[in-house]
Amino acid sequence: TLINSRYLQEFNWYLIIRQCSDDLNKELFESLLLNLGISLLITIIILSFTWITLGSYQQKLEKMAITDKLTGLNNRQMFDPILEQFFKLATRNNSELAVAILDIDNFKRINDQHGHPFGDKVLVEVSNLLRKQTRSSDILCRWGGEEFLILMPTTQIIQAQHCIEQLHKALANQSFNIDGNEVYIQLSVGIASKEDNDEPNTFIYRADQALLKAKSSGRNQTVLG
Ligand code: GH3
Ligand code: MG
Ligand code: MG
Repeated sequence: TLINSRYLQEFNWYLIIRQCSDDLNKELFESLLLNLGISLLITIIILSFTWITLGSYQQKLEKMAITDKLTGLNNRQMFDPILEQFFKLATRNNSELAVAILDIDNFKRINDQHGHPFGDKVLVEVSNLLRKQTRSSDILCRWGGEEFLILMPTTQIIQAQHCIEQLHKALANQSFNIDGNEVYIQLSVGIASKEDNDEPNTFIYRADQALLKAKSSGRNQTVLG
């Protein structure tokens, strides 16, 4: 309540004015609540928006760190922990584990003849073919420039060999039509199977050595390590 007084000399009166401010207070309080509510709502909206944006950026960054940008396959960085995990699992379950390392033959020639962007498209086509020709439980990785790796859990070496033979056949029968050019691709492949005293690196090393043998024996073939 507001009270104001004034002395009126002419009448020898005191004029007292009393204003009841309950309504005013109520109005002020309501407006304060409304403002607080709006500010809270805006803060919540901004925070949620920031949270969603940061989350999607983080997801993108994580994906970029583990996948090859060109082909969308796992990159080598991602492959190391995967190999370790599957290796431990195979040891524990005493199950088979096979690996194939594939290298496109004379890829430099394709780049030289048709240009680097064309070569990139070939790499994408080859990775799509690999996805098609392998089991969904196999792990595909872009191992290097024109090298790919397939890790095949619970797969005997003979089955892995069969899978790669199918791939050789598919490549022999299928040309890639890219930008109006028709190219045939051939692969050299080294295959290895997990042995009792293997470590992940010795296992991969044997596949790598087998690949080198496939190259030195004339390319377009598979060698078992
Ligand atoms: P080989 O049969 O002995 O494997 O011969 P190659 O020509 O395939 O092998 P080499 O190692 O001599 O050359 C590999 C080529 O792959 C050279 C390099 O420019 C090319 N390359 C590597 N990464 C990429 C890529 O991301 N895109 C394209 N277009 N080319 C690439
Ligand atoms: Mg190579
Ligand atoms: Mg090559």
